[in-house]
Amino acid sequence: MDVGFKPQAAHLLTDSRQVSFPEQSIFFAIQGEHHDGHAFLQDLYQMGVREFVVEEAAWTDARKAETVHWTDAKIWVVPSAIRAMQKLVAEKRRTFNIPVLGIAGSNGKTIVKEWLVQLMSPGQRIVASPKSYNSQIGVPLSVWNMGKEHTLGIFEAGISKAHEMEYLQPVMQPTVGIFTNIGPAHDDGFRSRKQKITEKLRLFTKVKKLIYRKDYKDIDEEISLILRPVNPFLETITWGTTKSGAAIQVAFQILKDKTIISLKGKSGNFSFETGFRDEASLENLTHCIVFMLDFGVNAAQIQERILSLKPVSMRLELKEGINHCYLIDDAYNNDMQGLSMALNFLSQQEQRQKKAIILSDVLQTGQTPAELYNLVSKLLTEKSINRLIGIGPQISSQAQLFDIPEQQFFPDTDAFLKEFAFNTLTDSLVLVKGARPFSFEKIVHRIQQKAHGTVLEINLDALVHNLNFYRAKISSGPGHQNTKIMAMVKAFAYGSGSSEVASLLQFHRVDYLGVAYADEGVALRQNGITLPIMVMNATVPAFDLLWEHQLEPEIYSRRILTDWVDYIRKKNDPENTPLVHIKLDTGMHRLGFVKDDYDWLIGQLRENPSIKVASIFSHLVGADEGVHNAFSKNQYEQFMEGATLLEEILGYTTIKHILNSAGIVRFPEYHLDMVRLGIGLYGVEATGQEQYALQSVGTLKTIVSQIKYLASGETVGYSRSGHVSHDSAIATLAIGYADGYDRGLGNGIGQVSVNGTLCPTIGNVCMDMTMIDVTGANVEEGDEVVVFGKEMPITDLARRIQTIPYEILTGIGDRVKRVFYKE
Ligand SMILES: *Cc1c(COP(=O)(O)O)cnc(C)c1O
Repeated sequence: MDVGFKPQAAHLLTDSRQVSFPEQSIFFAIQGEHHDGHAFLQDLYQMGVREFVVEEAAWTDARKAETVHWTDAKIWVVPSAIRAMQKLVAEKRRTFNIPVLGIAGSNGKTIVKEWLVQLMSPGQRIVASPKSYNSQIGVPLSVWNMGKEHTLGIFEAGISKAHEMEYLQPVMQPTVGIFTNIGPAHDDGFRSRKQKITEKLRLFTKVKKLIYRKDYKDIDEEISLILRPVNPFLETITWGTTKSGAAIQVAFQILKDKTIISLKGKSGNFSFETGFRDEASLENLTHCIVFMLDFGVNAAQIQERILSLKPVSMRLELKEGINHCYLIDDAYNNDMQGLSMALNFLSQQEQRQKKAIILSDVLQTGQTPAELYNLVSKLLTEKSINRLIGIGPQISSQAQLFDIPEQQFFPDTDAFLKEFAFNTLTDSLVLVKGARPFSFEKIVHRIQQKAHGTVLEINLDALVHNLNFYRAKISSGPGHQNTKIMAMVKAFAYGSGSSEVASLLQFHRVDYLGVAYADEGVALRQNGITLPIMVMNATVPAFDLLWEHQLEPEIYSRRILTDWVDYIRKKNDPENTPLVHIKLDTGMHRLGFVKDDYDWLIGQLRENPSIKVASIFSHLVGADEGVHNAFSKNQYEQFMEGATLLEEILGYTTIKHILNSAGIVRFPEYHLDMVRLGIGLYGVEATGQEQYALQSVGTLKTIVSQIKYLASGETVGYSRSGHVSHDSAIATLAIGYADGYDRGLGNGIGQVSVNGTLCPTIGNVCMDMTMIDVTGANVEEGDEVVVFGKEMPITDLARRIQTIPYEILTGIGDRVKRVFYKE
């Protein structure tokens, strides 16, 4: 197999926004459903990238012309950039002769991988997939890191449709496999569950050994039927808890304070203790144990190491910190790749100018400290870090390699906590990045703002997923491949946190933001948002703010237009006059010019060419419901008529837009030049038709403050409205109507999820607290409770009190801390 090109670069780059070492990177321009890497070739060249792989189909004459003067660059033109990258990595992989474990299956891949990295680290130098890098792009990026120093590779592979695994097998070339399990879920990408199994098995066509759980009958069957014939010398290592005929008989004995896992097989009988008790963790752990026994790790060492295993949390969290700081909590591991990913996340955040990092020794590399910290130093400088706090003997010993404006070093975490002047850490974005042995969670605990128990967790990956869902919708609309997106971030981004959400949307290149009031726009500007922003309710007293921050008002009435004309005439600075957006009222009867205003409006626009119109728009009243289709069509026609008329007078075309989230789904023919995306971003598909395609973004959580046992006949809460009809366990939650838990949800109308059990409210909701009936649920004081989220959909909650999810989201109180995370 000949790749056809020999790059010089040491780093593979597939995302133009994640450049760390441009001169040493080769960029693969990938064309995706929502994204075209070719659009960023110029930017990357400017940054210093000199090697490019582009796709034939996208390599147009215009693009060629743009790059003719790049005499110092190399450009390879291939049919598919992803395939070219995979081949390049496959070729590199073939030059290594170390054991490589490949992990496939529906659930647990990342946990088994992360645990085995922890468990096998003593004695092995491991190269592994970072986070859950298991895709067509993630696998090659992971395997590319393999170096001479490594003694073991551990990678995961995930596929979403047929034929994908065929490409990943040669890239990874696993010598050993673990098939974790198979989920019951029906996947769009596969005809059947059986096909899902056989496709995943393609990762193992060349492994020598395969570990799997024989309790899964259909996996076992497909291995005999499909895998064996193509891999006849395969050695299977099977385990099982039932009488499945597995080679290793496993039993889980769950005791009060521990679980005993016992294994009985040809090579002996073993038993291990662990603190885990849930079925999924026990299954994952048994896969790890079976792998380690086969690898030759002795039982005493296995026991010692599994006792220090912790649940895997790979979330990268963004939280509010002390002294007006923001905190990125990544206190989980610290290798070069993890560090580089966390720094990329840090540099995407616009909330604070100053960037600080608290960094432990970097673990798991085969380089000398000088080589390693030289690289770390370059990376920190490249990402414009203003302050470095290094913790650990190794990083301290290499202090002279760093050239950060402010830097300090401490031998260990306790010394830092004792000696550091915390009042000097102000107004910064602080990345806390430490390897597990450094216990950086103590540092996070010290510098994060304390929550009162109720938090709204925002899943940033889900938000991006939802954005991409709507992107795919608009790019498939008839004739409007270039439809722009205005993301509505009014009302604190529907309760989710404006600057954090806006920052993410800016990074993912939406075209416009929409807010309700000037103040909201100003707050975004103060947090580093540079996207154009439309302000819907602009008023005369706010004009100075609009001007100063370049915010673009919606012009909706004769009065506001007259005021604006007066204002900009006084300013007399056409260069700096903000653009405006003209709103037509086609039936909503809220804001906007009606037909009778058009003549007047046209006169004004003629007389005042200094009014620069960015867009003309209207709003549908019933985009979500079929009964209003005729009305919607009429609104659209009125709108187009009005907009065409105005454009004729203006003498230039403007951006025309009429759809909100529901409209995007229901009216592809009205996508026009832009759409205004609101609630859908936050995970609610307003028509209900495609709710399954969105991911829930916000999870509102609180905690159990106290549990009481009440006898039949007693009452709970104000006005004695909660009647205990049989002996009950009643829990008090740290959330009330002041936090946005509607008073209408009291007296059994609302339910919350407590460790998987739905429990009804009892009695009236109080200002700061709510009582629930937890009789029969498995719950202790201090436990976490989900108020809404996956377990309790917000649409369901809204329905119970005859409202809409918009109201619940925007009603969540200010005192509820928002925590942002990435998986
Ligand atoms: C809020 C708003 C939107 C977004 O509506 P969703 O239903 O949340 O998508 C669009 N246009 C206007 C004018 C809005 O005020």
